[in-house]
Amino acid sequence: MELRKDPITRSWVIVGDEFSQLLPPPQAAECRFCPAAKNPPQTISTIQALDGHPWAARAAVHPSPIYRIEGEPARRGDGIYDRMRSVGAHEVLLENSRHDRHLWAASDQEIERFLLLVAQRIQDLKRDPRFKYVSVFKNFGGPAGQEFSHPNTQLTATTFVPRRVLYELRAARDYFKTKERCVFCDILAQETAAKLRMIEVRNGFVALCPYAPRAPYETWIIPEAHDAAFERFALSRSGSLRDLGALLRRTLERIRTITPDFHLVLHSAPNPLHRSESLGYWNTLDEDYHWHIEILPIVSARAKSYTFKEVYYSPVSSETAAKRLRDARVG
Ligand SMILES: [Zn+2]
Ligand SMILES: [Zn+2]
Ligand SMILES: [Zn+2]
Repeated sequence: MELRKDPITRSWVIVGDEFSQLLPPPQAAECRFCPAAKNPPQTISTIQALDGHPWAARAAVHPSPIYRIEGEPARRGDGIYDRMRSVGAHEVLLENSRHDRHLWAASDQEIERFLLLVAQRIQDLKRDPRFKYVSVFKNFGGPAGQEFSHPNTQLTATTFVPRRVLYELRAARDYFKTKERCVFCDILAQETAAKLRMIEVRNGFVALCPYAPRAPYETWIIPEAHDAAFERFALSRSGSLRDLGALLRRTLERIRTITPDFHLVLHSAPNPLHRSESLGYWNTLDEDYHWHIEILPIVSARAKSYTFKEVYYSPVSSETAAKRLRDARVG
């Protein structure tokens, strides 16, 4: 596998002939991630449990990684094109030691321990000067491309900033340039006042449906306190991770009253070791970018086409979606 850059959109694409990736993963007889597994993948780090369980959360090497940790990216030209080796990290972040303990069924303390693992893994990988960005994402349900049944989120560290984040970084910078304000703080202020698209506010965190959703019931979780980097926020104000965990659990519970399948992604600042003049989004990044979580539910068999469409289409308005999610009964 290698990375190729589309010279028009400037997006990096993973390209290669690896036909095994097109097949569904073989169903193992036993879960490789449960504490008693005989053939567990290599553990990277563990968060101890406070309640007598073998562990609270754990990072493991992905059994069939998209990116390889060894070597240099060796970026090079190919005529007018750019290519580089698919160097990076690919980890499975186990949310709980118990096989059936998904985020919406876990205790707030358990989710807090998991979020601490996420913050620690991002901080650790950002020490590696090869990596420009650390992505944290969760695919749940068959239509979302879920790979393992054990409760898990995945992480990749890459030598490039993924396209969607790059768009956000550039847009946040441009908004700041004209208004000298963070666009996310402005969204929070307007949505909090209007209430129409708000789902829940909880101790410094807000769950809302964005004004122009890419998919029905798209939901964002945004901290009220401005910070560009999730891990800096999480590790300096660890007390608030339990509140974030509680809102995450309740929001997923709400979404699961509509559909079980969803994508979740954490958007946060890139690696400051790559503060580059030519990229241009670094000058005001700490002021103009604001970390957040995006949840994209998958509501029907047609859902997949949403992502491939040139124009996003949501047959449920954000106002209706927010009302239904607000009214959902959660524990
Ligand atoms: Zn398991
Ligand atoms: Zn902000
Ligand atoms: Zn985002």
